Formats: sequence, C-alpha cells, structure tokens
Amino acid sequence: MSEADLLETECEAVIESLCKIAGAANTLTEPSDMAAYLEDWTGQYHGEAIAVVRPASTHEVSEIVKLCAAKDIAIVPQGGRTGLCGGGVPVQGRHSVVVSLSRLNAIRSLDVAGRTFVVEAGAVLEVLQEEAAKNGLVFPLTFGAKGSCTIGGNLSTNAGGSNVVRYGNTRELCIGIEAVLPDGSIINALTGLRKDNTGYDIRHLLIGAEGTLGIITAAVFKLFPKPTSRATGFLAVSSLDAAIGVLNRIQDRTGGAVEAFEYMPQPAVDVICRVFPDIRPPLEGNVETGIMLEVASSRPSDAAEMEDGSIKFQNELMEIMGELMEDGLIIDAMVAQSEQQRGELWRLRESILEAITKAGPVYHLDISLPLANIAPFVEEMDREALRLGFRPLTVGHLGDGNLHYALACTDAERWAELPLEEVKSFAFSLLKRFNGSFSAEHGIGQSKLALMGTLKEPSQLAMMQVLKSAIDPKNIMNPGKMVVV
Ligand SMILES: Cc1cc2nc3c(=O)[nH]c(=O)nc-3n(C[C@H](O)[C@H](O)[C@H](O)COP(=O)(O)OP(=O)(O)OC[C@H]3O[C@@H](n4cnc5c(N)ncnc54)[C@H](O)[C@@H]3O)c2cc1C
Repeated sequence: MSEADLLETECEAVIESLCKIAGAANTLTEPSDMAAYLEDWTGQYHGEAIAVVRPASTHEVSEIVKLCAAKDIAIVPQGGRTGLCGGGVPVQGRHSVVVSLSRLNAIRSLDVAGRTFVVEAGAVLEVLQEEAAKNGLVFPLTFGAKGSCTIGGNLSTNAGGSNVVRYGNTRELCIGIEAVLPDGSIINALTGLRKDNTGYDIRHLLIGAEGTLGIITAAVFKLFPKPTSRATGFLAVSSLDAAIGVLNRIQDRTGGAVEAFEYMPQPAVDVICRVFPDIRPPLEGNVETGIMLEVASSRPSDAAEMEDGSIKFQNELMEIMGELMEDGLIIDAMVAQSEQQRGELWRLRESILEAITKAGPVYHLDISLPLANIAPFVEEMDREALRLGFRPLTVGHLGDGNLHYALACTDAERWAELPLEEVKSFAFSLLKRFNGSFSAEHGIGQSKLALMGTLKEPSQLAMMQVLKSAIDPKNIMNPGKMVVV
C-alpha cells in the first residue's frame, strides 16, 4: 500500500470515528458542504480539511480532540468566521479537522440577581445581547459582526468593539471559562467567582489565544444595568487632539457615561454613503474630525421628563456640548431625536468595514496608540500615505486609542503599482516610535503572523512559544496561527 493510500485509509477511519461522536449529519466531508467553513469573511483565506465536525456538547468536543490528538491531526476551532486575520480556516499542508461550535449555542443559565450568564461558545453575540435585554440587563459587547460572530470567537480574539471605552474588551467581561485542552481534558471553571486568586488564571491564557491552546466551550459573563436614558449624536470636532479633550470633558461631567466615542472623518463617511446610498451623512459640509458619540445612564432620575417634554440627561449633554462649542472644541453637532435616528447613526458606524472593503482594493491596519500620540501619528501617517499614492480611510474606537487605518487607492486599476510594502514598513516603524501596537483588537491569525517575528518583543514571543509547546506539545491546536513553534 502506498503512503497516499495509507493516509486515505487513516482519514477514512478518522471520519468514521467523527461520525460516531457527532453523528453523520454533523460530520461534513463533501467539498460543497465544507466550502463555506473553509473560507472566512475576508475571502482572502481558503483552507482544506478532511472534515468539518459540529459537536453538540463539551463531551463531544473532548472526544473529537482526543481522536485528533491520537492521530496527530490539526484541529481548527471555528465560530462565525467573521475573524479578519484568517485564524478560523485551516492552513495548507496539514491534515485538519474544522471543529465548528455552531451547535454548542445554548444559554445554560442567567442569574438576574448575580448579574451573570453562562453561555456556550457557539452562541451568536446578538442573541446574547437580546437575551440580556429580555431580562432587563445589558451585555455590552457590540460591533458590526454581532449578527454572525459567536461568543467563543469573541473570547478567542478578545474582541473589542464600540463599547470598550465603558465596559472593556471581552476579557474584562468574562469571569469564568470551560474549555477542552489539546489532550482532550476539560477545564470547568464556570463558578463565576469574581474573586479567585488560586494561582495562574487559565481563563486569561485561553482568552485571546485564537484557538491555539484549546477549544473554549462555554463561559460566564458579567451583565450590566440597562440604561434608562441615552443620548446619541454626531459631532464635528475642531481637531483630533481636541477630540480627546472633548471625550475627557464629557466623561468628567457625566460620571464616565460615555459608551461609544467613534472617530469617523469625512472620507470614511463619504465611502459609506457612496456604497450604501440609503445612508445619509449626519452633518452637512466637510466634517474633518467627525465623532459618533453615545452616552448612557441607568439612573432613573436622569430619565426624568422635563416640563417641555425633553429628557434631563439629554438636556445635560446638550448643555455640555454648548460649552464645548463656546470653547471652540466642537464646531457642529446633532443629537438623535428618536430611536430611529439613533439606529441610523449606528448603522452608519457599523457599515464602515463592509463599505471600505466593497469600495475597492485596500490594506487594513488595526492599530492602537496612547491617546496623546494619536493625532501626531495620523498626521505623519497621512502625509506619507498620500505621498506614496494611497488614500487613507481612517475610523476608530477613539476612546480606546484604536484606529482602523485603511490604506486605499483612488484608482483601483493602479493598486498593483502602489508601494504597499514601503507604506506598511513606514507605518510599523512609526507605530514603534509612538509606542503603538500592530494589532489592537482583530488578533494575529495568519495575516499578521510574520509581524510577530519582527515586531513582538523577543522575550514576550519566547514566553508565548514556551507556553504553546507546554500546553500543546504536538502542535495540533490551530497550527500556523498567532505563534509559530
Ligand atoms: C463587519 C465586521 C466588523 C467587525 N468589527 C469588529 C470590531 O469592532 N471589533 C473586533 O474586535 N472585531 C471586529 N470584527 C472581527 C470579528 O468579528 C471578531 O474577531 C470576532 O470576535 C470573531 O468571532 P467569530 O465567531 O466570527 O470567530 P471566527 O472568525 O470563527 O474565529 C476567530 C478566531 O477564534 C478562534 N475560535 C473561534 N471559536 C473558538 C472557540 N470556541 N474556541 C477556541 N477558539 C475559537 C478561531 O480558530 C479563530 O482563530 C469585525 C468583523 C466584521 C466582519
């Protein structure tokens, strides 16, 4: 029997065992059935797998991992495939099984008094937001992919989004985890204790590990009081530097009530309105430094209706904005007068990635900087990008110092001629000078793997390699992603 025949026989045996564990209907092997699972949202990464398996319980996940470990087959955990770095699809050259968590999607329990819920990894983010809302609470993690991404993917990428300025990243929201390690053993740390200093916190190793240390199967999350009043608006601010001052003044005056502070300059708004003609720009004219702002309060007194029918909290925000206008920090502003207008502002914000991606060829930087260094970074970066023939399209979760800086091009035909490597190299050295990070919230996956070797501090990278080798000595857990051993 040739080596190829032997491999084929082994693969067939693995598929048979997978069928026994998860059921034949949940073990996909036909290329047409697997196709969707082997490509991610970006369309840039395509993988191959001997099977896609969809377990329905933690026990099944554990059995699948034990099987793959015994046969030295790579395992690629997968959620909603909205990741932007190619982390959720297999790499070429390794026999892989994709483990989709889509059927492991239950909300196991919700503790209204304790303000927590225990949810399974495959639950879709928007479903969790809705479940919290039904119980009078808020699960604050939110961003454009909420209708498709899963909480397991959110944990594994330590997703950020638009509410981090108030509630933190996914890591800050999670207080317990259940996971299957590369040998198939199960960690069950779902007690939801807010204090537990009994040694290394394995939860924090698994969060942000992009599936390289194990498969997250469930987690406990904090829930928050539901706001009784909100104000959402769009500001034209005098400069990017001034925007940080505006954020701090609003935070100081509202007791830290800013939920979103999103940088949306005119070029980005123009692209959105061009790609989605039913979306209207929120302010007239050329708004160089546009900010989408949301503040919220759960204090019942803030929701009080005044004699003229207006809401106290919104009046207070208008008052603060009036003062900021007098001080020359804000040039123009609009505040949503209805839920519909609020929805339109959020749609504008959440359409940006899709709009930029549809508009033409582009290279996306997902970077973070100390707040004080954002304005000088953007100034220098824009100058160089324009000089080299690129069109910068920048948006960002400004309150977190996170910029999505897209290097686009005015003429798609010319894209191939533009010096992409030169502009990237300029961006990364500028980032280093300004103490920034080359991956703020999207992770490393395959797309930024090479950068880890050049930009990550060598001692930190070495520590990551030691951990990966110790926890996954056979390198079967999502190999070729995030860290190379
Ligand atoms: C329109 C759009 C807007 C976006 N906006 C934001 C944003 O504002 N902020 C942000 O942070 N991200 C954003 N993203 C990126 C993406 O949505 C997040 O990275 C998200 O957390 C990925 O979740 P997912 O379920 O789709 O994971 P997938 O894409 O399926 O997987 C992502 C990574 O996690 C691993 N993984 C998935 N599930 C598990 C599991 N159960 N156990 C172990 N590993 C697992 C995968 O192997 C892969 O490495 C956006 C994406 C899109 C398309």
